[in-house]
Amino acid sequence: LPDVTGNRSDGRKGDLVATDARHVLHPWADLSALGRPESLIVCEADGVEVVDSSGRRYLDAIGGMWCVTVGYGRRELVDAMRAQAQKMPYFTPFGDISNAPATELAATLAALAPGDLNRVHFTTCGSTAVESAVRIAHLYFASRGMPEKRHVLSRVDAYHGSTFLAASLSGKEADRTRFQYESRWVHHLASPGYDPDTSSVSADQRLRELVEGMKRTITEIGPEKVACFIAEPILASGGVLVPPPGYHEATRELCRRYDILYISDEVVSGFGRLGHFFASEVRFGIVPDLLVTAKGLTSGYQPLGAVLISDRIADSLVAGADPAKPVFSNGFTYSGHPVACATALANIDVMERDDICGHVRDVGPYFIDRLRELRTSPIVYAVRGDHLMACVECQVPGEVGPTPRNQALAQRVDAYCEEAGLLVRPYENLCILSPPLVITRADIDRIVNILADALARAEQDLRAGRGC
Ligand code: PMP
Repeated sequence: LPDVTGNRSDGRKGDLVATDARHVLHPWADLSALGRPESLIVCEADGVEVVDSSGRRYLDAIGGMWCVTVGYGRRELVDAMRAQAQKMPYFTPFGDISNAPATELAATLAALAPGDLNRVHFTTCGSTAVESAVRIAHLYFASRGMPEKRHVLSRVDAYHGSTFLAASLSGKEADRTRFQYESRWVHHLASPGYDPDTSSVSADQRLRELVEGMKRTITEIGPEKVACFIAEPILASGGVLVPPPGYHEATRELCRRYDILYISDEVVSGFGRLGHFFASEVRFGIVPDLLVTAKGLTSGYQPLGAVLISDRIADSLVAGADPAKPVFSNGFTYSGHPVACATALANIDVMERDDICGHVRDVGPYFIDRLRELRTSPIVYAVRGDHLMACVECQVPGEVGPTPRNQALAQRVDAYCEEAGLLVRPYENLCILSPPLVITRADIDRIVNILADALARAEQDLRAGRGC
């Protein structure tokens, strides 16, 4: 076995790093760098910090991947995982079989969820939850005798996952690679982000344009063919894009008017990142028909996703089921995995006991305010965010408007952050931040100080003509 003390920089040059370079194709890997021994191999973690294979510590300002919410090393979650694994590690969830943690978690989620989202279909991750939600929308209309109602509305800059349909729903132009995508019945509306700092139009005007655009697309396709609209309340991976006030209610209303199901993708915004278990109702005033969650559901300690379904939809699926074969033919071997569900229950207990959502409501505005101080850097075009999801958008000084979304600048800032013991996520010209929700004001100060320094160093490089 490779030596787990393998190191990125010392003489032994890490067996682990070399082995990884030789054998692993990482999700979202840069193919031009495949095989280069450059991976950061994270071996340990506690609180808000992780430790790499050479023993270096980093403050994790990306929360794993938006998902580590209660922080690392939580004994309650680890104990729940161990206890469930010993008691009953797995059994099939198919048909009329369940397991106790999944059943209990479904009731717990129903109690936390908005409106009448009382029925839960478990999946394995966010992508499978998104796929399942769209299939449920299709089944719902088929059950009502409208099988032609199957078109799906998404948005430019959305991210909904990496399986075939979820990737097709995702609307980030730069990610549209040589893979194939479903385009016959997937439509992308305009990116809904609105930033009052950089926009040349008022929020009201932008809202009007977005709503008119959506109405136009529905009319062009024909409302009788549109099944659902899928939307992250705040677009996460697309660049932490916050829609103008009123957008959520207005799009919800359009869906109601045209008999289109509203799917809220709360894979990132759910479980506390915006200060509430779910953001849809409390923050944005809407009750969706279907709600998709994953990530923070288990604080990232176990893979798990879920679709929350309104009673209205669930009842209709039953009433309109095919009498010849009344089967809900969707689900996965690991749907509602007992160890993952037990972890989620322990996670929710910790969140409630420690009032993690209240803590986010307390430190979230401080996080955004402090990050906004970075706008004085000439290489910062914008700072956007809401509570504990944020991004710093970089620009080449002197250029008007945002730098075309190229990677080099944010990557350089990221590299300097990493050198100083901070992990941010570079994406195109953005540094994305989504720290664990237990972050303190002192941690936030450390993040901002390191970022400020990294931005200054990247700026010096630019001015000296070094890279970027
Ligand atoms: N929806 C959103 C909003 C996401 O950000 C992601 C993942 N980043 C997904 C869906 C897909 O989740 P997963 O990676 O667990 O499949």
